[in-house]
Amino acid sequence: MTAGAVVIIGAGHAGYQLAASLRQHGFSEQVTLLNDEGHLPYQRPPLSKAYLKGTGGPDSLMFRPEKFYRDQNIDLISDRAVSINRAARRVLLASGTSLDYCHLVLATGARNRLLDIPNANLDSVRYLRTLDESQSLRDYITAGQRVIVIGAGFIGLEFAATARAKGLEVDVVELAPRVMARAVTAEISEYFQSRHAAAGIRIHLGVQVTSIESDGSKVTGVSISDGRHIKADLIVVGVGVLPNVELAADAGLPVASGIIVDEHLLTADSNISAIGDCALFASPRFGGSLRLESVQNATDHARCVAAWLTGDAKPYDGLPWFWSDQGPDKLQIAGLTTGYDRVVVRGDRAQAAFSAFCYRDEQLVGIESVNRAGDHMFGRRLLAAHGSITPEQAANPGFDLKSALT
Ligand SMILES: Cc1cc2nc3c(=O)[nH]c(=O)nc-3n(C[C@H](O)[C@H](O)[C@H](O)COP(=O)(O)OP(=O)(O)OC[C@H]3O[C@@H](n4cnc5c(N)ncnc54)[C@H](O)[C@@H]3O)c2cc1C
Repeated sequence: MTAGAVVIIGAGHAGYQLAASLRQHGFSEQVTLLNDEGHLPYQRPPLSKAYLKGTGGPDSLMFRPEKFYRDQNIDLISDRAVSINRAARRVLLASGTSLDYCHLVLATGARNRLLDIPNANLDSVRYLRTLDESQSLRDYITAGQRVIVIGAGFIGLEFAATARAKGLEVDVVELAPRVMARAVTAEISEYFQSRHAAAGIRIHLGVQVTSIESDGSKVTGVSISDGRHIKADLIVVGVGVLPNVELAADAGLPVASGIIVDEHLLTADSNISAIGDCALFASPRFGGSLRLESVQNATDHARCVAAWLTGDAKPYDGLPWFWSDQGPDKLQIAGLTTGYDRVVVRGDRAQAAFSAFCYRDEQLVGIESVNRAGDHMFGRRLLAAHGSITPEQAANPGFDLKSALT
């Protein structure tokens, strides 16, 4: 808890939400939000969805207009933190100035994992995390171009679906044996794989790009590990992210696959919290430590820290949920669908509306829904309350899910 200035490093989903929630909780001390991107704080999910398709301008992505920060007395500063002096409780900025804090929050997010092969620095090798990257892809892609997407994760597949809808020739190259393998069940992977294939996207599984060919300035194609060559004008890389932990590590705070925080999202220094994509947090709900990359995680972390800073200290207990829009399909995930030992399908895959209920030791741990928003909302409510239904009930189309919520 603090009675003084709060400095937030990073104005993404987590940083923005924390500043807004502090004011909602009546926090009256100074709040400074450090923003190192050349835009007002904005939402990332549309960058690989509606925005990439051409819907709306940059303003449509902003959480709030500039006036909001003025009205709420939030100091939104365009600068980058370069180091933390924990003894002096001071953050040094790239501009040479510094900010003193009573409590510091690291909301530094994550950055693209870069491809490490020759020619990966060509202009026609692109990534998709920031508004600038999405804008430049949106301006660049036109019907008839040939694009290779490296990585069949959420962002790679969302981009692939949009590019295909815009008339590009799309090949997706993925090292794992199925799409979104780290994140979803085989049932969901198979469904999306067949939907993307039906849309004309060629998916190459169990292989990787071994070299990028160019004419000296532009990409002309790639070689893949099974010996084939694929022609291309553009490569979009979606091979995951690296959490931005360096500021914390340089300040002597423990980091691993994220900045290590306890169940209150505090680092080893009780004057410093870490939230969102950069935080590896202790989870009483799931046991062990988790680092998640989702809007829910970033915003619920922010709300938890805002409550803690205003005297309502509770351990973080948010239920993870997530969504991904790929072509005409909406995938929604409630809970953590890892470590399951049984999957029960409810609904009709042929009708493009079904859910995979995931169980561990007969206990429901998560639900992955395709175009079944009702199942998703049910899962969020039931799992948040640590509830379950039996696999037999889940599989029975006549079983009324709502009856399990009362
Ligand atoms: C294209 C795309 C689509 C997505 N789609 C979905 C989706 O459909 N559903 C979903 O749940 N999630 C989605 N996500 C994930 C979601 O956007 C992230 O989990 C979320 O943005 C995390 O918020 P954050 O604030 O922790 O980090 P970020 O949004 O990464 O924000 C961190 C900010 O900190 C800044 N920063 C870093 N270091 C410093 C420094 N030293 N000084 C100052 N500033 C600094 C960064 O530049 C950045 O602006 C998507 C992500 C992307 C990229």
